[in-house]
Amino acid sequence: MMRQEHGITVAVYPGSFDPVTHGHLDIIHRAAKVFDKLIVAVLNNTSKNPLFTLEERMELIRKVTKDLPNVEVDGFRDLMVNYMKARNVRLIVRGLRAVSDFEYELQMASTNHKLNPDVETFFMTSKPQFSYLSSSIVKEIAKFHGPVEDLVPAEVEEALKKKFPRI
Ligand code: ADP
Repeated sequence: MMRQEHGITVAVYPGSFDPVTHGHLDIIHRAAKVFDKLIVAVLNNTSKNPLFTLEERMELIRKVTKDLPNVEVDGFRDLMVNYMKARNVRLIVRGLRAVSDFEYELQMASTNHKLNPDVETFFMTSKPQFSYLSSSIVKEIAKFHGPVEDLVPAEVEEALKKKFPRI
C-alpha cells in the first residue's frame, strides 16, 4: 500500500461510465489496490447524450463494486478541478487503451494541472483483452441485441436489455 506520511492516499477515477464495462472494472480493481481509497466519479456530461441517467450509471457501478470496501461512487456536474477541491483530492486515475487515447488524455491532464498545479494524473494501461472495449461499442452491440456478456458485468447486461427490449 502506498501511504503518505500523513493521512491516506485518495484518488479519483472520473469518467462517463455509460455504462461501466469490464475494462473500467479492471482499472477500478487495480487502482483500489494501489490507493487507500478510490472515488469513482461519474460525470454528468451535458455535451454527450447518455443512454443511462447519472443515477443509473452510479447505481450500476455501486452494484459491481460492492465487494471493494475502499471504493466510493460519486457523481459530479462541475469542472474536474473544482470537484476535486471540494472533495480535497489531488490525484486522478485514468485508463489508457491505445495510442488513440493518448492525445485527449494528455490534453486533459495538462489542462487540469494548469488549472491546479497540485493535481496529478496517473495513467494505468488497459489489459490487452480490454484494449478494444468502450462503452460506445457495448451500446452499439446491445442496440442490435448482440452478445455483451464478455464485455460487461451481468447487472449491466440486464440493464442494457431493459433499455433495448426485443419487441
Ligand atoms: P470519458 O467519457 O471520460 O472518456 P469513459 O467512461 O469512456 O469516460 O472512460 C473513463 C476512463 O476509463 C478513461 O480514462 C478511459 O480511457 C478509461 N477506459 C475506458 N474503457 C477502458 C478499457 N476498456 N480499459 C481501460 N480503461 C478504459
